[in-house]
Order: sequence, then structure tokens, then C-alpha cells
Amino acid sequence: MKFTLEQSERYSRHINLREIGTKGQEKLLESKILIIGAGGLGSPAAMYLAAAGIGTIGLVDPDFVEISNLQRQIIHAYKDISKPKVTSGKETIQDLNHDVNVVTYQEWATLDNITDIIKDRDYDFVIDATDNFAAKFLINDACVRLKKPFSHAGVVEYAGQTMTYVPGEGPCYRCVFLDPPPRDAVPGNQEVGILGVIPGIIGTIQATEGIKYLLNIGELLTGKLLVFDALEMDFRKVKVTSRENCSSCGI
Ligand SMILES: [Zn+2]
Repeated sequence: MKFTLEQSERYSRHINLREIGTKGQEKLLESKILIIGAGGLGSPAAMYLAAAGIGTIGLVDPDFVEISNLQRQIIHAYKDISKPKVTSGKETIQDLNHDVNVVTYQEWATLDNITDIIKDRDYDFVIDATDNFAAKFLINDACVRLKKPFSHAGVVEYAGQTMTYVPGEGPCYRCVFLDPPPRDAVPGNQEVGILGVIPGIIGTIQATEGIKYLLNIGELLTGKLLVFDALEMDFRKVKVTSRENCSSCGI
């Protein structure tokens, strides 16, 4: 692969990094990341991955942009209200970087379609940018089954958490959280609120993990749950381990 002059300039700050160089940048341009959820977490993840030159970005979301989204979902703008979030997201990404091919799935990820979506472009890495437990367990179980690495995240009020699953290298989401809580047992962001920058910070960490995984650099958050508290401005890593009898990844 030969970079155009524009690409050499666009990615020069990556290329200058010893661990990335032209080889690493080529790898990013050939890589495919699926982002499930084009909201608070998915917005910064998609924008940084697009800026980084990830060659293919898949966006899954059935919803339409509403004005209450704009407080944190920075991939969407006022002019996008009422558009499908995947359309608005695709337009923003293409304005930012035309090297990126955006594939849109305007639908809920469900048990019936998630395997097909992940296999559609044989994505290298999945980002769980959803806001409900059912989706998180669904994504976990599908990624474990298909041996796909993924980044989990959750955010509420002033706090967030994230961990990375890599097949064979650490616990899955279900090892740590067992089963979804009963429906409505845990109030969502719609009820309790969320500081807009929280998904910005956590979604950006998810993008970082995806890039590190693709480039095989540094230490991923495998076996480690990163817990962030914005009020105390505290980042804590909690060690988490695989469960032998995990109904998702156990033998
Ligand atoms: Zn497990």
C-alpha cells in the first residue's frame, strides 16, 4: 500500500510514533471496527477511530437524532435532528476523513441479527457503546461465540467503567457481571441523568483500546475493569478474573 501525499500528511503524527510508523498506519487503514450504538459512547469512539484512519467503521443504531442527544452525542449536530443516527454519524465521519468506509445498520442488535452484523465485514474489533444491560450481554455472548475481541463500557451520572475482552486472554463481561439485572431494577441515564463528558471520556478510552489491539501495542484492559469517578477525578483498575463455569466463555 502506498500513501498519497495527503495521507502522509494526515497521518504524520501517527507515522512519527516509533510503535506505529507507516506499517502501523497501513494496518489501521486495512482494519474494520464495529461500533454498536451511535450515541454518547459511540460518538467519540467513532470520531477518533475515523480520525485515526480505521478503514472500515460499522455503525449500528435504530434511533433518530433528538435534541436531548446533543448534550453528549457529539457526532450529531442540530441540523441532524430527526435523521437516523447512523446516517448522521456516517456524514460526520465522511466529512472528517474520506479514507473511511462507513457501513450502517439502522436496526437494534438482536439475537437474530448480531452474528450476521459482526460477520458482515468480518470486523476485527467490536465496541459496545450501548446503554442497556440486555444489549451488553447480547454483544458479549456473540463476541465470545465468534471469538471477536470487544470493548465493554457503561456510564451513569458522573461515573463510568470499561474493560476489554480478548478471546483466550481474560474474563468476558459475563464472567464479571453474571446475568442482567431484572428489567427496570437499575435506572437508566434517561431517569437519573449523566454528565455529558463522561461518555466522551469512556468512549475515547474504548477507541484507544481498539487501536492498541489492532496495532498490538501496550497493555489492554483485559482482566482489568477500569472504574472512573469524575467527581473525585479518580481512575481505578479492579482486577477481574475468568469464571470456570461462565455460561458464555467457560468450558
Ligand atoms: Zn466468561
